[in-house]
Amino acid sequence: MNSKPSIYGLTLDALSGWLTEHGEKKSRASHIWEALYTARATEFEQMTAVNAACLDLLREHFSLNTMTEFVKQEASDGTVKFLLQLHDGSLIETVLMRKKYGLSVCVTTQVGCNIGCSFCASGLIKKSRDLTAGEVVEQIMTVQRYLDAAGSGDKVTNIVVMGIGEPFDNFEHLINFLEIVKDRKGLAIAAKRITVSTSGIPDKIRAFADLGTQTHLAISLHAPNNELRTRIMKINRAFPIEKLMDAVRYYLDTTGRRIMFEYILLSEVNDGRETAAELADLLDEFKELASINLIPYNPVDEHSQYQRSTAEAIDGFYDVLKKRGINATVRMEHGTDIDAACGQLRSKQMKNEGTAVS
Ligand code: SAH
Ligand code: SF4
Repeated sequence: MNSKPSIYGLTLDALSGWLTEHGEKKSRASHIWEALYTARATEFEQMTAVNAACLDLLREHFSLNTMTEFVKQEASDGTVKFLLQLHDGSLIETVLMRKKYGLSVCVTTQVGCNIGCSFCASGLIKKSRDLTAGEVVEQIMTVQRYLDAAGSGDKVTNIVVMGIGEPFDNFEHLINFLEIVKDRKGLAIAAKRITVSTSGIPDKIRAFADLGTQTHLAISLHAPNNELRTRIMKINRAFPIEKLMDAVRYYLDTTGRRIMFEYILLSEVNDGRETAAELADLLDEFKELASINLIPYNPVDEHSQYQRSTAEAIDGFYDVLKKRGINATVRMEHGTDIDAACGQLRSKQMKNEGTAVS
């Protein structure tokens, strides 16, 4: 398949600059941009407002379609999961979720993940490469084209960077991606409708704070002490809770924004009332600005040491946090009938094909 870079990887400024360098009028950039994001052309030929010579130039250097739909699963609740094949054959996942507030897309940022959390299907397969900004934007466009084809006039309104990969381990492409999707003349998805989730890399949390963006940040915490967190997430050895919390403090002081903590509930591992009380102690200082999202564990075959918490345990955990004045919610599940937890469809597909899962 075509391995030219995706045209979706250019910001409007970068596209203008590129056109000038290639002897074209800078002003053509806005026509191309409009064809990409308003008319949503799927082939260069459809960009009728752009002249033939300029189209040839674009065609020579870029691709509009660097990925193909490998499998698509539609769940009874309207969740749609796309298994996409990149130009080099790698498989990634993108999920459309229908929320009360709009249509949200969960994007992948890396092929595999090196963080290797003990409960996660994505971490079963080591990272083979980072996705480019264009490949992340193209996932949104794939979903938008799916919605366009349905003819309902629906638009992607929200983005969660919570698919396969650690976004802060692919920082520059992530920032570029955010700039492109936020552009008011393009997809115009406002920063406050975007959430980036990280397993907790302190220097990148600080760098993200320094950007001064309105994009929301979520931290995958999963445990209130180092012993337990290291057992669940080996990244905690390199970046223990104290270092992570220092970075969170910096983020809150610098931005004045709210922060979200994610906490997977694993039965009898981190879901006891005492653990909830310890978590409340840890987060007490952030009470005004932090909320915690409790995530019922989505079972992964390879991680059979973990089970989903009982409804009673979830209620109990939630109750302790609430009584301590911590803002908590329990995550609504989407598409459980279609392997919708991140990385699950991909790892199943690779197993079926006999691909080694390391
Ligand atoms: N690497 C980033 C973003 C991708 S993972 C991070 O770890 O934050 C996004 C979220 O999905 C994380 O909070 C992660 O803990 C959660 N997750 C991973 N595997 C899961 C599973 N089997 N069940 C429920 N949530 C899971
Ligand atoms: Fe990677 Fe996030 Fe999965 Fe951990 S939870 S292995 S950081 S994708």
